[in-house]
Amino acid sequence: MHIFRTIKEVKSFVDEKKQLGNVIGFVPTMGALHQGHISLIETSRKQTDITICSIFVNPTQFNNADDLKHYPRTPDTDIQMLQDAKCDILYMPDVNDIYPNNETQQFDFGKIGNVLEGEHRPGHFNGVGQVVSILLKGIQPHKAFFGSKDYQQVMIVKELVKQQNLSIDIISCPILREPDGLAMSSRNKRLTVEERKVASLIPIIMKKAADLAREKGVTYAKLYVDEQIHQQPLMKLDYYEICDFESLDSLQDIYNKRAISLIAVFVGAVRLIDNLEI
Ligand code: AMP
Repeated sequence: MHIFRTIKEVKSFVDEKKQLGNVIGFVPTMGALHQGHISLIETSRKQTDITICSIFVNPTQFNNADDLKHYPRTPDTDIQMLQDAKCDILYMPDVNDIYPNNETQQFDFGKIGNVLEGEHRPGHFNGVGQVVSILLKGIQPHKAFFGSKDYQQVMIVKELVKQQNLSIDIISCPILREPDGLAMSSRNKRLTVEERKVASLIPIIMKKAADLAREKGVTYAKLYVDEQIHQQPLMKLDYYEICDFESLDSLQDIYNKRAISLIAVFVGAVRLIDNLEI
């Protein structure tokens, strides 16, 4: 695996490979890799000829300085995992390579950018837009792979690609979970043993709430989630919503609709998100 520090090096490698007819796949990450990230690498390897992974903890998408400061960083293990997964290129830039002029770009993703994560983490999706736009334009892969754990993010990236007329396929990949059901996340590394135990309730509560939404309605399901999280002293609910699968409009009923439930919960100081199709 080649490790590049500048996007220029990545681009010239990509250009060379493209001229030989290779299909290029790209997996952007913030590192502290786990099997969820590796599943994206594996999917890219199946669908493309060359797989590029980036590791960059993007400061502009953190609306909370403490979260950025404590974001886990495990570069040596990450490199080993990517090598084992037979990733071809790792792009590990310094902040100056991504933002050389400190310029900020403003995006308007419309309604999908203003609800859920957009509402609860102001500026987050603008930061995601900035870094993803720089990475996609700089690398110009044929396909880019994103996890549906960050369901709203995938929608934002698809909208970004549309707005900027980029001819890149955005591929949404399934959520990988721990054996007890907790969605894999770099932030899980920050949980204490006790918090980790409590965190495993998230998928259980979501599953039960999805059943309740079908049987007794959306309001009932929301109340159930509120109550269950409230009972846990280590947890604090940021939001639980049942939304239309495509528009992310909040739904009052799910009759004859394709719905998805989305949750954000603080477990101790760590904010975790998850989602489940209903
Ligand atoms: P992150 O490093 O958290 O920015 O994530 C990088 C990519 O990995 C994003 O597209 C995430 O959605 C994806 N990802 C994170 N966790 C998981 C997971 N448990 N399963 C599948 N993909 C994931």
